[in-house]
Order: sequence, then C-alpha cells, then structure tokens
Amino acid sequence: MATTHNLGFPRIGAKRELKFALESYWKGQSSQAELQRAGAELRARHWRNQAGLDLAPVGDFAFYDQVLDMSFTLGNLPARVSGFHGDALDNYFRVARGRSAAGAGDHAACCGGVAAGEMTKWFDTNYHYIVPEFEAGTQFTLDAARLLAQLAEAQAQGVAAKPVIIGPLTYLALGKAKDGADKLSLLPRLLPAYAQLLAALGAAGAQWVQIDEPILVTELDATWQDAFRTAYQHLNTGAVKLLLATYFGPLRDNLPLVAALPVQGVHLDAINARDEVEALIAASPAERVISLGVVNGRNIWKTDLGAALDWLEPVAKRLGARLWLAPSCSLLHVPVDLESEHKLDAEIRSWLAFAVQKLGEIRILAAALAQGRDTVAPELAANRAAIASRHASTRVNNPAVKAAVAAITPELGRRQSPFAVRAAKQAAVLNLPLYPTTTIGSFPQTKEIRLARSAFKAGNIDEAAYTLAMQAEIEHSVREQEALGLDVLVHGEAERNDMVEYFGEQLDGYVFSQAGWVQSYGSRCVKPPILFGDISRPKAMTVAWISYAASLTDKPMKGMLTGPVTILNWSFVRDDQPRALTCYQLALAIREEVQDLEKAGVGIIQIDEAALREGLPLRKSQWQDYLDWAVESFRITANGVKDGTQIHTHMCYSEFNDIIAAIANMDADVITIETSRSDMELLDVFDDFNYPNQIGPGVYDIHSPNIPSEAHIVALMQQAAKRIPSERLWVNPDCGLKTRQWSEVIPALTNLVSAARALRAAA
Ligand code: GLN
Ligand code: ZN
Repeated sequence: MATTHNLGFPRIGAKRELKFALESYWKGQSSQAELQRAGAELRARHWRNQAGLDLAPVGDFAFYDQVLDMSFTLGNLPARVSGFHGDALDNYFRVARGRSAAGAGDHAACCGGVAAGEMTKWFDTNYHYIVPEFEAGTQFTLDAARLLAQLAEAQAQGVAAKPVIIGPLTYLALGKAKDGADKLSLLPRLLPAYAQLLAALGAAGAQWVQIDEPILVTELDATWQDAFRTAYQHLNTGAVKLLLATYFGPLRDNLPLVAALPVQGVHLDAINARDEVEALIAASPAERVISLGVVNGRNIWKTDLGAALDWLEPVAKRLGARLWLAPSCSLLHVPVDLESEHKLDAEIRSWLAFAVQKLGEIRILAAALAQGRDTVAPELAANRAAIASRHASTRVNNPAVKAAVAAITPELGRRQSPFAVRAAKQAAVLNLPLYPTTTIGSFPQTKEIRLARSAFKAGNIDEAAYTLAMQAEIEHSVREQEALGLDVLVHGEAERNDMVEYFGEQLDGYVFSQAGWVQSYGSRCVKPPILFGDISRPKAMTVAWISYAASLTDKPMKGMLTGPVTILNWSFVRDDQPRALTCYQLALAIREEVQDLEKAGVGIIQIDEAALREGLPLRKSQWQDYLDWAVESFRITANGVKDGTQIHTHMCYSEFNDIIAAIANMDADVITIETSRSDMELLDVFDDFNYPNQIGPGVYDIHSPNIPSEAHIVALMQQAAKRIPSERLWVNPDCGLKTRQWSEVIPALTNLVSAARALRAAA
C-alpha cells in the first residue's frame, strides 16, 4: 500500500490571509501576537486541507521565505543585524525587507535600519527567496525552536508530521559568499548543525524528515558530487529516516550519485523524470522508499489519473509499501483551492486542479493502487470525462491556428534587409539626434487611473466614459513628454493593468482566475493568467490607443507590445503540447498586432521581452534549445515589417553575458536593458562581443525613488560609449515608470534629457 504525502503547501492562504496579516503587522496596525495567531490558524487550516494524507509537511510554513527560515535555523544571520535588540521575528523581517514593523518593532532609534537581503528566483519558478550570505569565517549554531514548535503544534492537532528542511548542499549552493570564499569549505562547519537538527527532530518524535536537495536536478561538478557523499554519510546517524527530495527535473548524471547516498527514501519528480523511475529503483537498495511525484505541482491542470495508473500499477506491484506518492514538488507554486473560483467558465474550470484538488488526486491514485480502480470508479470516471472534454474541446483546438503554425517558414522571422540598410532608412524617416531619448513604455499608474479601471470593471462607468478617462491620461503623458523634450514618445500604458494580463484578456485561448494567487516573494502574490487553448487574436488590441496618442503630437510615437516569450513565461500554460508550440502561436498573434500598428502608421514598435531570461532551463545543456525557439518566436513576431519600421525590445535584467549571442540574434534594431545599478560594468560583455545593433543602457534606476543627476547620467553614458559607438546609443530609464510618481519622474527625465543634450554638445 502506497504512503501518500505532500512536499509543501501554499502558505499565503486561499484569501491571501498571510499577506494581509503581514502587511498590517509591518504597518504597526496589529501586534506580533496577532500575526503569530494568523500564522497558527493558517497552519492548522492547511493541515486540515491535507487531512487524508499519510504524512503532512511541517516547516513549510514561513512568515517570509523558507530559505530565510533555514538561515535562522542554522544561526546564519548577516553581521549587519547582529546588534539588534528586539526579538527574533523582528530581526527576521529586517533581513527579509530591511525593516520590521513600524513603531514598536523597528528599533529605528537604537539599532536603525539595515540593507535587506538580496532576493533571487527559486530555480526556474517565479518564487523569490532571500539569498543566504556567507563569509570564509561563517559559523553555524542551531536554533531549532521554530521547527520544534511547529512540530509540536502539528502533533497536538493529530497530524502525522514530516518536518521539511532544505538540505545542506542546496542551502550552500543557493547562497552567496560575500568575500568570494569557497562555499564548500563551510560544509564541515555546517554539517554538525544539521546533525543536531535531525537529532532534535528525532527526539521530538519525527520519524521521517524530508530534506530538499533540488540542486540535484542541475549540473554538478565532481567536487559538489563528492560533497553530497560526505554530507549524507555524516547525516546518516539513525536519528531519523531521511527522505531526500529532488524536484523540478530529471536527475540525469546525478542519478547514480543519488542512488548511492545513504538515505532511507528518495523523492523523484516523476512528471519531469518519468523515464528515470526504473533506473532509480534498479540502482536503489532493496528496502529504500521510492517517492514518486505523480501530480504536477507546478501547473493547474487535472492529472490524467487513468494514464497515471497505467504506468504506476506495475511499479506499485513491485515496490509494495516502499512506494510513496506525492505531487512532483511543493504546491507553493499553485493557487490554494479551486473552490474559491465562482466566475470561471464552468467547462474550463472542470479541467483544473489547484493545491487542494491535487492532493485529492493523490488520494484517489493511492486508493486505486491499494484496492483496485473499482473502489474509486466514480472519481476515475469523472476525471476521465474532464480529460476527454479538454482533449476534444473546440475551444482548445483551433485548426486554423494549428495550420498557421505548421506553415511557419524561416522567411517569417527574417527582416527584408540587414541592420545597416535598415538603420539608414530608419534614420532618414525618423531624423533623430545623436543620443536619442525615450522611455520604456509606462508612465505612473495614478490613483485616478486605478479608480477609473475598477469603476469600469464594476460596471459603474460605461466603456465610452472609460475610454475618455484613459485618453485624458494618454494626452497628459504626451504633453509631459513634449514639455520634457524627449525624442521618441510613448502613450504611457494607462489602459494596462499588467503587461501580460492586458494581452491575455484580448486573446482567444486565455481565462483568468479570480483568486488564483501564487506567492512571488514575502507578502507579494501574482495571479498568472491561464493559457488553455490555441491562441488567436480576434481583433487589434493596441492600435486605437497608440493611434490616438500619435494623433496628439508630431514627435515619433513608439507602439508598445509584450512579446510572446514573456507572455508564455508569466502564464500558467497548457501541458498538452510543447511550450515551443504555444510560444509560436503567441508569436503569430502578436505579429498580427505588429503589422496592424505598422499599417496604422506607427514607425517604431517596441516588443518587451522582460522574461526571456527567466525561461532558461535549469541545465545549461538545454539552454540552446530554449533560446532557439524563444528567439525564433520573437523574430516571427517582430520581423514582418518594412525596413523603415524600427523594432525595439526591452529586457528587465542585465545578466545577459551568457546569452548575448541569442539576444543579438533577435535582430531588434534597438534594445533597452537594465544596467544602471552596476555603473555600466555589465557592459563589459561588449568588449568581447561586438553587439551589432543599437542599444539603450538604462541610466535611471526606476526601482529607487532617487533622482539621478545630469552628471551621473552623463558619466554612465560616457562609460557606455567606451564600449559601444555613440551613434548606436540611446538614453533611457532602465524599465517602465508605472510604479513611480509623476513628482519623481519629471525631475529624473528632465535630467535625462539635459544629459543627452550635454552629450550631443560634447560629441
Ligand atoms: N513596457 C513595460 C513598461 O514600461 C515594460 C515593463 C517591464 O519590462 N517589466 O511598464
Ligand atoms: Zn523592464
């Protein structure tokens, strides 16, 4: 009989209760006791949600981030917070976000504010963790209080508890050695803390501990592989049984390593590594538990239970009680409960499973394996019907879209002429000065804009009134840009709530949940749109707004679109076809918009690919394949225009040294990128790589309220001009301005324009 369990549950709450409890505490509007109570209530509710599983996770709850929790458990706090007088939770928030609660908790008068810990993406998900900080001298001292308290809490509620911790190698790998120290040199000091932790958990009654080592799905060199052997020898103390959890991909060349580690159980992501199940079983000792992640923990689709049983039944027969069943990874990455959705289209809703429903699937699978499919016949029949309905739905399958993708030829992605020819024609049409100035698209999303949008959505104003309100905002931003003296204007994106949702809402093949929140970091959540079917564009999406903006001015107006790769990477996408195919469908739809803009006389079109880098696979060996279709998708979108039409793209990051060739291959006439925080050092890549087209290195850090001075901008651009000829440089902020206030934007852009003038005068 298979044991059922879960690797982690979303902690934010079906109604984002944790978010609101945290934000109220941070604002000083509620007490720490109230925050603790909210946390305890969520944990209790989530254990109830997981009732019926044989083992439920404990320690997956975090007030901010599970990696930061691990840092506190290991006593690894940055030196800058060591002088703090307050209590541990307030210190925890100081590391997480630079400050704790306003008022009592912040200790502003005595120990002051501190720099927040760096945040980065958790593997290839959209969850961000707080990066552990190391130095050569870092010491670790166990503080198991939080974990032990939560274990006791679970036990008191009758939960069969399995504590979850991040393993030592993943913990080291995710951190940053501030002084360049070799992180593995810390392992001998780290392991005793882990051994003590396991001993403490065992003494408190935990039988199994889940130890997460997702770096095992990435490429590891021999030193790291060795470190795994050393570490797990050391942790094999008999205090508890260890379930080594790997997820987000196959093990590949780490499989023999994993199989040989002295652990009592291994969890494999059987969604992404089905083909490794047999090899893992064959290479494992005869008594080892094999936990299979058979329900996708990363997406929102129902599992095809019949198909899962087809391959699981023989495996279960052989493994017997050694088989455990779980979702592929923690459910942190999916919304909590489909029951919260009241407005979703009923047919599409029947195809979905959120966290609670996914655990139900695990229970059905386990029952079918234990007592035969007959015992869950109604559940299996309902599942079969849902899968069949999705499969056959004419809303999913649009033959015209499939045919259009099949008909894609390389010509579709090619400009008519090489860059040099295009650049000359564009220069003749646009007649821009040296160091042209522009912005990235959005202007401040003011309270008035948000009010008009929610009034329209609630039906309190009609479409005509809404259009007038947005046109007024567009006109305002055009007048401001003219007054500032910018060279290439934008309409300001007032009508867009979100750069992906705006397009998703107008494309066929998308639906939107009401409460499908997924934690992005701390108290922040995103609600990814659901791409369920073949993508098509019923009608133009942006032309009316951009044309209206263009009609207000004689200056060039840049049209603004979100690119296919970014739309793909920021959505829940279908699992019934390769991502590449979905991306090509998006590319064809956005290409139509590009061509409609061109027909409407828009001579400059920007296609944002903010999330291109995010889609990179975890293993470098797979990067090229991704980059090939991602870049081709962009090219299909962008390159059907005339030579004289100028294509821009924008990327929200600066680490592209390792993908610079792919970016050049997109062949955009102009790219704007984020560089302002690094004093242009990031442009060093251009010393070795001759980037052929035009580029706007961001010179105004829009993530900060600070106003960059003219001198600062000039200095940054001079740095840039050492690497890229000035005829190919643009002057612009490093991202959109929607999160800023007009009172910040005006002085910053004033300095940006005057810096460009100074640069021209000096040229
Ligand atoms: N055009 C978008 C904006 O200006 C780009 C946002 C982004 O890159 N994230 O807001
Ligand atoms: Zn950006």
